[in-house]
Amino acid sequence: MGETGFTTALLHGTEGFPQGGTLPPVAQVNAFRYERMEDLERVFEHKQAGYAYSRIGNPTVTAFEQRINALEHGQGAVACASGMAALTAAILAVCRSGDEIIAGRGLYGGTIDLFHDLEQLGIHTVFAEKMTGEGVRPLITDKTRLVFGEVISNPAQQVLDIPSVAAAAHEAGVPLFVDSTTATPWLIRPLEKGADAVIHSSSKYINGGGNAIGGIIVDGGKFDWNFEKHAAMAEFRKFRRRAFMVRLRTDLWENLGGCMAPMNAFLSYIGSETLGLRMERICGNADALARALAGMPGIQVSYLGLEQHPDHALAKGMMSGFGGILNFRAGSRERAYRIINALKYAAIASNIGDVRTLVIHPASTLYIRSGVQEREAAGVFDDTVRVSVGIEDPEDLIADFRQAVEAGS
Ligand code: PLP
Repeated sequence: MGETGFTTALLHGTEGFPQGGTLPPVAQVNAFRYERMEDLERVFEHKQAGYAYSRIGNPTVTAFEQRINALEHGQGAVACASGMAALTAAILAVCRSGDEIIAGRGLYGGTIDLFHDLEQLGIHTVFAEKMTGEGVRPLITDKTRLVFGEVISNPAQQVLDIPSVAAAAHEAGVPLFVDSTTATPWLIRPLEKGADAVIHSSSKYINGGGNAIGGIIVDGGKFDWNFEKHAAMAEFRKFRRRAFMVRLRTDLWENLGGCMAPMNAFLSYIGSETLGLRMERICGNADALARALAGMPGIQVSYLGLEQHPDHALAKGMMSGFGGILNFRAGSRERAYRIINALKYAAIASNIGDVRTLVIHPASTLYIRSGVQEREAAGVFDDTVRVSVGIEDPEDLIADFRQAVEAGS
């Protein structure tokens, strides 16, 4: 047999749980007890496999880490309390005061806010208009330590041209880290396209059921670190290409304290088993809904799967689908609110990647701390509605949006 498909691989080859369990047990404990002090000492010294304390490691969390690492074809993963905890740990592992980051413009609002917070630590971010090799190359300076972007930015749906941005970053001795939350491993494996680490908010599509906040960092283990340049990692030079993961695992991530809770790892593990199935349905629904909305009066829709989207061709060449986020402009903030309030199935909620369709007015929520210019660069206007398309029956979704658009006119 050749390589198994996405969902088969998720459901099989995971044998090895105690008592033949088909799922990992939930190790809902803080600490692990040892008969002999010497053994616990060896665990602390990383000379013996084992768990000591759940902030540092937990078997249920390990099962989740191994699963996402395998999905991404990575060389190691650490699960975190949230997507933001994962982004913070990944960035702080490689950047210190005086360093610069180059980041895409149309990012998730929370990540833009994080870059503002990092200014206080002396880490400066330069935003690129276009996440292509040509867009990034002129911004690289001798202070640049990281290039970062979202594979499909939320909500702008700008696509990061991973191979060309990775080439530009690597020429300058800098890694490319990507947030692939909205793309998911079902649409793309960024490490295979040239990214050096992948970050997910697993709170979204990986979990899928909207029942556990979480995040994860997967290391490709291929980047050839220059420890003079990446002085933040100098202490870990002996680990060479594994230095990023070792620094996270044994130092920064452990000390920041943003570990994933065992129950959240369990729920996210279960959720991930249906990722392929859900994404297939979600992408199909998003496409159908976008095409239906495009024909509705006074609605200007933006979906990566539509041929007129500026990044459609790039997405088509790089990924196996177009994702589940779409935006539409309603003409005015008031009409946007009227449409949102008239929806019956689409729930008003600040989340994406749920099985349920969710809607939000991003300008007054997710981008409340951003300036007008910044949020408009992220594709968020006063009349923008973001839709995270779920797995409902497409006819019901389309009918719901149709009646809401009519009611809101
Ligand atoms: N990255 C992206 C693209 C997101 O959409 C989000 C949340 O919406 C995050 C990161 C943050 O994740 P979390 O809410 O799990 O901290």
